[in-house]
Amino acid sequence: MEANLDHRKLYRLPWNLADNPIVWLEPTQQCNLACDGCYRQNVREHKPIDEVQGDLDTFARLRNFDGVSIAGGDPLCHPDVVQIVERVTKMGRKAILNTNGLDLNRELLGELKKAGLVGLTFHVDSRQGRPGWRNKTEAQMNELRSEFAEMVASVGGLACAFNSTVYEDTLEQSVDILEWAGKNIDKVHTVVFIAYRNAALDNFEYYAGGKRIDMGEVVYSEKEKRRADISSREVVAKLRERFPDFSPCAYLNGTEQPDSFKWLMTMRFGDGQRIHGYVGPRFIEAVQAGYHLVKGRYLAYSSPGALGMGRSVLASSLWDGQIRDAARSYLGWVTAHPRDLLKPVHMQSVLVIQPIDVLADGRQNMCDGCPDMTIHDGRLAWSCRLEEVKQFGQFVASTPKPPPS
Ligand code: SF4
Repeated sequence: MEANLDHRKLYRLPWNLADNPIVWLEPTQQCNLACDGCYRQNVREHKPIDEVQGDLDTFARLRNFDGVSIAGGDPLCHPDVVQIVERVTKMGRKAILNTNGLDLNRELLGELKKAGLVGLTFHVDSRQGRPGWRNKTEAQMNELRSEFAEMVASVGGLACAFNSTVYEDTLEQSVDILEWAGKNIDKVHTVVFIAYRNAALDNFEYYAGGKRIDMGEVVYSEKEKRRADISSREVVAKLRERFPDFSPCAYLNGTEQPDSFKWLMTMRFGDGQRIHGYVGPRFIEAVQAGYHLVKGRYLAYSSPGALGMGRSVLASSLWDGQIRDAARSYLGWVTAHPRDLLKPVHMQSVLVIQPIDVLADGRQNMCDGCPDMTIHDGRLAWSCRLEEVKQFGQFVASTPKPPPS
């Protein structure tokens, strides 16, 4: 089932190729896990620090950005990860680590914070084959998420986000992650659900430079028959089974389908016991436009301090219809439970990402205004499809296979 969402009623995030909150830096291709659904060939290959600096300089030349997602591979495999964080900080941008957390400990986290780290996005899900965490449900994986969230909170001042890939057999469990995140809203600032994708081999032929290529060589080609078309609307429908009011406010559309939600953003208010309500499109518009007006770029990663000011936002942003509803709901609740007035109200964002969709006629519906662009050969490239450029020199074209004669 798909949630009934009208993109024209939500805020279209203003992000584009040249002006975007984020860039995606890949200092290493090595990872210490082999997650199901990974988009990158896992090889022991680190970029020397000068090359990493070269990528940062190229980003700065091509794109206006607020934050750098330091990804990979797993960036903690890079021997100079602390120095990389320092380099990002030195250029006046926010350094965010995208990691599975396997190599993280409190001491290293302290060092990274000293180097200027602003936040971490942990990839944790039940299909990663983590030692000690195999064959667990997403609800059971929440125990590991809590360990990471506690570690980050103990250092203080760092944004903490969690990514998980959504497969057809774990879609049902997404809501267990959302519920856990709501209970830990003081420590968990963002939750991201990424629908699983692969390159289908049965239905399409692939071409590079006019020549047919073997897509089976690419790490994200279809290895087993399973759904690779889960939509953001489906994820929202699942989340609404337990949180019926769940209300997205902003989005990025697809390059081929303006009404597809490639990035779908929701922001909610809560105190760890109850979700009081949601932010509406006008609020997000004001935040993005206001930040751009003041800082000259779009906002990536709000600080934990700002997200902890939920009550002030509820009181001061009544011009946003959904915040008005949230404020009303909060007032009703604290009138009945006056002791809850002492609890801080936090804000938390929930993102649903629907990566590439290959349409029946072969067109590729990408994220319009892709935030996760990386660098290849001095050019911006979709990080989710970098292997194609590496292997075939360009992004491949797809066409439907002709019917058997
Ligand atoms: S186009 Fe690919 S790399 Fe860019 S945001 Fe979408 S899924 Fe991520």
